[in-house]
Order: sequence, then C-alpha cells, then structure tokens
Amino acid sequence: MILRQLFDYGTYTYTYLIASDASREAVLIDPVKSQVKIYLQIIKELDLKLVFAIDTHVHADHITALGELHRLTQCQMVMGKQSKAKGALKYAVEGEPLVVGDLIIHPLYTPGHTDDSYSFLLDDCLFTGDTLLIRGTGRTDFQHGNSEQQYESLFNKLLKLPDNTRVYPGHDYNGFTMSTIGEEKQFNPRLQVKSLKEYCEQMMRLNLPYPKLMGIAVPANLNCGNKS
Ligand code: FE
Repeated sequence: MILRQLFDYGTYTYTYLIASDASREAVLIDPVKSQVKIYLQIIKELDLKLVFAIDTHVHADHITALGELHRLTQCQMVMGKQSKAKGALKYAVEGEPLVVGDLIIHPLYTPGHTDDSYSFLLDDCLFTGDTLLIRGTGRTDFQHGNSEQQYESLFNKLLKLPDNTRVYPGHDYNGFTMSTIGEEKQFNPRLQVKSLKEYCEQMMRLNLPYPKLMGIAVPANLNCGNKS
C-alpha cells in the first residue's frame, strides 16, 4: 500500500493519498482546493490513477478539492450518506466498503463533530477526519455538531478498535502526525472522562472562535468546492 500524508499549512489540514501498489488506483481523503497542483504532481510521479476523492465531512475551515479533482481526473466524489452536499456524489455508507484495487476501505459513521462525519478504516489505519484528533477531539458547536453523538462515536466505535490501530487525523495544530488508538486512550485529555455528561460538559466549556473561512467554506463545500 502507498500512503502519503500531505499538509495544508494555511488551515493545518492533513490530506491522505492512499493507493494500491498492484493496481495503481488511488484515493485522496480530505483534499484541499488550493493544493490540487501538488496532488496531481504526486499522482503523476507515482504513476497512479485517482479513483475516489473523499471528504470525511462538510468542512468549515477550508475549501474542498472534490469538485476540482472530479473535473480534472474524472474521479468519483465521495461523501457520507448524511451529507447535505449536492453534486455527482457517491455516498459512503457504513457496511458498504469502497474497493480500490486490493485495498478495502470501510466507512464508519462517526457523527458528533458534524452530523455527516465519517471515519475510514483501511487495515490497521484509521482516518478519523475531525472526530478524533491527536490529544484532542473535533469541536461540536456548529454544523449540527453534538457532543453526545461524538461521545458515542468515540467510546463505542473508534476506541473499541484494537489499541495498535494507527490514527491519522484530519488536522493537527501542534506538530503531531499520527498516533494510535491505545496512545489516545491513555494520553488524550478529552478522553479522560468517566461519563457522557462529563464529556459534554467539557465540550461546552471550550468557547472557541469560529473558523475564519467558515462563511465561505461551508456554502462552497456543500457544492463540492465549486461556486454555487
Ligand atoms: Fe471539521
């Protein structure tokens, strides 16, 4: 398997390029519109064919490259079934794996950060979007975010995966690149709670400013990053 972690410095977003060694088919998870040139360059250099561009959720802090990549490569655009984005989307559903050559990517519905948040599991690699971050969790105060649902997604789904599952988040603001489920269970301060109530209370206390690009990014991303 080919796996490359790419970073958008402007928004601290990680994008993942995953490809099958055998078939050369590739997937991008959470691609950023301003980085399309880099994606196309690496895809060409590694002799890959992009088949899916996937968003883990409708992003509020950057504009997605889904529409642009679809236009330039004819790849399929994928978002979770609960997404309100419009366009020629293939909807990810839990229980219906995405097959990319010899790679099988399992969508896991993990609402909480938004109501359309998905994580994607490929062997022992878990792409968590903004559901589980390294030593943090995604905020739940807009886009139908819900701390109770996030608690369920974390404690009753993602943290039930084996401890050695590798965690690849959608963002990092501190310089971390990857983690594991075991490491997050032990050291992630947001996960050191004894109850659902305690989790929700700490999320309510966060009081974060809204993302700078939110007013532009959300409407654009509901249209796959294209102008509506
Ligand atoms: Fe997000």
